Amino acid sequence: MPKDFRNIAIVAHVDHGKTTLVDVLLRQTGTFRANQIVPERVMDNNELERERGITILSKNTAIDYRGVTINVVDTPGHSDFGGEVERVLGMVDSTLLLVDAFEGPMPQTRFVLRKSLEQGHRPIVVINKVDRPGCDPERSVDAVFDLFVQLGATHEQLDFPIIYASGRDGWASLSLDGPRTDLTPLLDLVLECVPPPRADREGSLQLQVATLDHSDFLGRIAIGRIFRGQIRHGMRAVLVRRDGSLLPFRVMKLLGFHGLERVELEEAWAGDIVAVAGVADVTIGETVCPEEQPDGLPPIAIDEPTISMFFIANDGPFSGTEGKYVTSRQLRDRLYKETVRNISIRVEDTERPDTLLVSGRGEMQLGILIEQMRREGYEMLVSRPKPILKTGPAGETLEPIEEVVIEVPDLYQGVVLERLGPRRAIVERVDSLGNGQLRITLTVPARGLFGYRSQFLTDTRGEGVLVRVFRGYEPWRGPIAGRTSGSLIALEQGLTTTYALLNLQDRGTFFIPPREAVYMGQVVGEHTRPKDIIVNVCKAKHLTNVRHATKEATETLAAHHPLTLDAAIEFIDDDELVEITPAAVRVRKRWLDPNERARRTKEEAV
Ligand code: GDP
Repeated sequence: MPKDFRNIAIVAHVDHGKTTLVDVLLRQTGTFRANQIVPERVMDNNELERERGITILSKNTAIDYRGVTINVVDTPGHSDFGGEVERVLGMVDSTLLLVDAFEGPMPQTRFVLRKSLEQGHRPIVVINKVDRPGCDPERSVDAVFDLFVQLGATHEQLDFPIIYASGRDGWASLSLDGPRTDLTPLLDLVLECVPPPRADREGSLQLQVATLDHSDFLGRIAIGRIFRGQIRHGMRAVLVRRDGSLLPFRVMKLLGFHGLERVELEEAWAGDIVAVAGVADVTIGETVCPEEQPDGLPPIAIDEPTISMFFIANDGPFSGTEGKYVTSRQLRDRLYKETVRNISIRVEDTERPDTLLVSGRGEMQLGILIEQMRREGYEMLVSRPKPILKTGPAGETLEPIEEVVIEVPDLYQGVVLERLGPRRAIVERVDSLGNGQLRITLTVPARGLFGYRSQFLTDTRGEGVLVRVFRGYEPWRGPIAGRTSGSLIALEQGLTTTYALLNLQDRGTFFIPPREAVYMGQVVGEHTRPKDIIVNVCKAKHLTNVRHATKEATETLAAHHPLTLDAAIEFIDDDELVEITPAAVRVRKRWLDPNERARRTKEEAV
């Protein structure tokens, strides 16, 4: 029997309580089986996501309530995953916007929310953590209203349903002074306000693939919404490919969602979100149809990559000492595997067998890929990111332009504009938000934003928020000056000494502490001047020199500034690489030997 469905996306700023709420909903509805071991936190169990404070992969959960299956789809929290956001929102009929009653809506959710409004959803607003002392739920509601206005919501959307909740304490209530019993008022509101999927169950099958997954047993798994008709386990089907060609296959497994688990189904009907195994060569946006009626839906647009970087097998002297997978072959296999799951990542071979060109939506997306690989045990070198350019109709060069929205206390307006001016930013508008806060909207070339995020956080003492969204290709805005400081380059392989670092500390800032293994050609710090210089950071104090007063006696060594992966990628110049291993992030010269460096030019490095 076909079931009743509601399909809803959940949108929340990190820490506003999404995981807790979904967890408690699953428990209260008994969607977890009695004997099932319930993980402590259900929805985001990816360690990297916690650290970065964003959802990277969208996950599906299904809640059974009063005979209705509510499919809840998680949304990625960053605009580098814009394509995925649109696809996820395309599977659902409404959005649950979760807002912390204390903090109000955060600008980071703007992007997803705008997309949701554009899809015509009438979001349900959940003011969460109402139990928190000193919170101001009414003000949060007003702020959500303002945000909707700014994002161009229609009258109907502005009339959004509101519910107050404490996910942690397990209750929701339509009014602040209403009963605080359980979460059923929220579930009832979902059934009432989210339209059931408009789905033609009689027509022939159309299932559009929105996300991909992989299982060692089943191979590639396509997940998507059935827009029309019925799919059965074992049926013969065809995949209507992006190019219109047809790929016949048999539905080897049909899986539905139940809680956090996937359950095998015999059949599923229009309106449901299911996973299908058996079609090896599927990609996002393609349609599964019956063999006899292969009418595919228009393919979902896939975001073109805008940034690329070279990934190179680690050929440094420490290669293989810290990671499990180091060869070009292993690197290549892993990267190509990524393209299967992650369609906005593109990998190309280059003339050099040890080098691959990897393109993505932004340096953040590529940074996450690198971090994931590193945790899996890979070692690699990466080059400075570059924007992917295009040629316009009149032969002019076009480059990716981002829309940037910055919210800062007004005293930082000067420093923000001062930094972004030389990065070829154009200010579109400046709005006062009251309370001395400003919202600055600008357009900036993607390359102008390399290295800016950490600068921004420093400049605004962590009080600013910066959100960026790809806007499109526009004419090249002219050169942007690169880093103005040179590098401090290690002379030879060895262990750094306090003595040497002390004597060199007026030259710049070191990335490494004393007694750290370094190698010739490694960039160990940032010079205060524009030129690169070679420094002997391993020099030991001559024991015979004790009569000379050494600096050590009078000076203390300044703390070093270790580079995070993001900071290292932002820092490097064209002839430098970041070396990433499970144990370390290092910066190095492309050519480690100074003689070879002298022979080569920067252009050759990339
Ligand atoms: P997520 O990042 O949106 O998934 O948020 P989590 O569910 O992980 O919650 C973030 C933090 O807020 C955790 O420390 C939770 O214990 C806390 N939290 C979640 N829901 C509530 C709530 O309803 N009330 C209060 N006071 N705290 C909550």
